[in-house]
Amino acid sequence: MPNYHIFTIGCQMNQAEAERLEGLFEQKGYLPVDVPEEADLVLLVSCAVRQSAEERITNRLAILKKLKAGRPSLRVALTGCMVSEDPLEMKRTFPMVDYFFPAGALPSFIDDLPGDILPNKPEVATHVPIIQGCDNFCSYCIVPYRRGRERSRPLQEIVAEVKTLVSRGSREVTLLGQNVNAYGHDLPDQPDLADLLVALDGVEGLYRLRFLTNHPKDMSRRLIDTMGRLASVCPTLNLPAQAGDNEVLSRMRRGYTIAEYRALVDDIRQSVPGIALTTDIIVGFPGETAPQFENTLKLIADLRFNAVHGAVYSPRPGTEAAEKFEDDVLKIEKERRLARLEELQTGIAAEINAFTLGSNVEVLVEEYVKGKWRGRDRHGKLVFFKSTRDLKGQLVTISITATGPWSLRGELTDADS
Ligand code: SAH
Ligand code: SF4
Repeated sequence: MPNYHIFTIGCQMNQAEAERLEGLFEQKGYLPVDVPEEADLVLLVSCAVRQSAEERITNRLAILKKLKAGRPSLRVALTGCMVSEDPLEMKRTFPMVDYFFPAGALPSFIDDLPGDILPNKPEVATHVPIIQGCDNFCSYCIVPYRRGRERSRPLQEIVAEVKTLVSRGSREVTLLGQNVNAYGHDLPDQPDLADLLVALDGVEGLYRLRFLTNHPKDMSRRLIDTMGRLASVCPTLNLPAQAGDNEVLSRMRRGYTIAEYRALVDDIRQSVPGIALTTDIIVGFPGETAPQFENTLKLIADLRFNAVHGAVYSPRPGTEAAEKFEDDVLKIEKERRLARLEELQTGIAAEINAFTLGSNVEVLVEEYVKGKWRGRDRHGKLVFFKSTRDLKGQLVTISITATGPWSLRGELTDADS
């Protein structure tokens, strides 16, 4: 039987894409292998959001080129944000790649492969894309150029997919999109994300629903209220601020001010008590001054997010920021800013997590790794605990005995042990 190997980097859309491709290739009878040296087909799910991500893929491709020289039957497929719309240019740039296909598309070469085996069991906590593309054109971002305009999947199609996943063992579903708030505006009867959540809330056997990413400028009253009242929707939200300074936000073309962002956070925290908020921040955007960066630190210190995904600005050719603004913050200064942001956030996350010490949390058990069970609580926190029982896919109550900035540890409570 042929072997395949998948290499994935980037966002959760890419993780979901990799899971989908695994399903497709295993259905064709392909077996997963850990290294490209043992594979007949190598799939790369690429990211172009930062130059460093692109470089990791080009480095991989250089290795694959050498492998192919020694083993011409090896096939290489590339998908994700590095795939542009010009196939000729792609072939010129990456001659070692046999197949290119856009993210979310059915790879056309799959029809040439034999096989009809039943797919693997899905993960306990799985991802389902609901909308592809993005119409926002934030000035730094390449996603709208590479993933195209927003395209929503029909509501009933998503509900049917979730039902299938749940019937095969999934218990938690994260709905994905670059901007899930835009879900449905392009569909005939224009359902919105709240409608989709209501439709999924009733799926028997689905314990938990999450969704990301939400653009702050598009958070609706209806969505916030719906989150607060549906039992399966977890109290978590990723709400990327990107910067804590109005002037920077305006040049980023984010469409909100800091005052609006803070008011939104207040509103969400009132409507969904205890909600765990996370955010994304870019440091060293063109022209970002030291005081402007301090404003970002102040926002992070004030709002106390559960997690902050920080990144140094990376100019992406073709985007407005790369064409119009000089990338004038020195690399060393960008890195210094990122380190300060991360240091601040590590302290905050450690404090937030320390509050859970001694409390009981509901954990959905996902996996057994290195002698411990691993799962997440409803706020998305990682929890580790020991048990000799097979608890995969179950909800258990864990009493928290130790905490750190990135995860919690605990023990099964009497009721569960
Ligand atoms: N749709 C989401 C994010 C998509 S990209 C949103 O609106 O926030 C994921 C993250 O990568 C972004 O949140 C941003 O923080 C980061 N990012 C995007 N473009 C970048 C760039 N040119 N340089 C550095 N980080 C970038
Ligand atoms: Fe990029 Fe902005 Fe769209 Fe997010 S909302 S994918 S950052 S353009």
